[in-house]
Amino acid sequence: MSKRDYYEILGVAKTASADEVKKAYRKIAMQFHPDRNPDNKEAEEKFKEATEAYEVLSDATKRQRYDQFGHSGLHGGQDFHGFSNVNDIFSHFSDIFGGSSIFDDFFGQTSSRGRGRRRSTGTPGSDLRVTLKVTLEEIASGVSKKIKIKKHVTCESCKGTGSDGGSSTKTCSVCNGAGEIRNVSRSVFGQFVNIQPCSNCNGEGTVVDKPCRACVGDGRKLEEVTVKIDVPAGVSDGNYMTLRGQGNSGLRGGPAGDIIVVFQEIPHDYFKREGDDILYDLFISFPEIVLGTEVEVPTLNGKAKLKIDGGTQPGKLLRMREKGIQHLNQHGAGDELVRVNIFVPKKISVKERELLKELLDMPNIKISSGSGDDKNFFKRFGL
Ligand SMILES: [Zn+2]
Ligand SMILES: [Zn+2]
Repeated sequence: MSKRDYYEILGVAKTASADEVKKAYRKIAMQFHPDRNPDNKEAEEKFKEATEAYEVLSDATKRQRYDQFGHSGLHGGQDFHGFSNVNDIFSHFSDIFGGSSIFDDFFGQTSSRGRGRRRSTGTPGSDLRVTLKVTLEEIASGVSKKIKIKKHVTCESCKGTGSDGGSSTKTCSVCNGAGEIRNVSRSVFGQFVNIQPCSNCNGEGTVVDKPCRACVGDGRKLEEVTVKIDVPAGVSDGNYMTLRGQGNSGLRGGPAGDIIVVFQEIPHDYFKREGDDILYDLFISFPEIVLGTEVEVPTLNGKAKLKIDGGTQPGKLLRMREKGIQHLNQHGAGDELVRVNIFVPKKISVKERELLKELLDMPNIKISSGSGDDKNFFKRFGL
């Protein structure tokens, strides 16, 4: 595939100065920028072509090699960028034009974190992960909680700019505004370029002229703040919720990160959770289960009376409708299941022992203490 001449693409003379090259690229980039030409393949190609040309002609070493050997002079090294999509181009070029990228200036503040493009100013703040312990009672109907966390908040003295009294920013002297440091090494295989973000300016390309004294130029400060978290009813252990824009403030006006709240369910003293149902083990005495009784059982928001019919078999589950946990993001609630168990005392008095022995001889007690209602059992043993 024969390539067009880079000077021709940018419409500049072979003797053009670096400034002229930059101006020419800027003009073409604005005209064919994909934001202005949505779904226009031809514009995108022109944009990429111009960007490639600029990438070479703006670099003195590459330009010299190109002048000498043409396109073939550029492919020996490892430093040529293959742009897989236009967003790569943005992330690569947004720093070239100084603190704020031309694209953002021209098209308004269209940049966003979601589009993979670098912000015009400031490094985005990081996300904060918070584990929030909640009881089953709180989960059952939802709760609003306040927690204290330490996070970076926007500095009020400089309104996040990081500079004192409205002083301006200047190009970083370490990376000359590129935001990255390139280390070139040569070997028999060609040229290798190692690119790292500039540590002096945090990859922003600019530094604050006169830093704000309150925040030492960061534009943010570490503070303890109270955050309100509305726990939705029905959350489960390990569920999480994202509080957008409530994480750490960015450096020098960069966008804030998120708070990610991870819910941790505190095990309950006597309820077991099964989905949105809760299980309660009720223990009653042998006479009570035989005769029937009315008991009070705990619920997630108080107590409830429950009638146990005489002759209820141990292990039976009694269902109390909608006394469980509210469904997450849905109407209705789970149930409370009460499992009926017989309380077996470990210690008994002499009198109790006598009474129990007496009971043991009673015909109905004897049968039920054998093998239940299985009449065949008696036949099998010839009884
Ligand atoms: Zn400040
Ligand atoms: Zn720098």
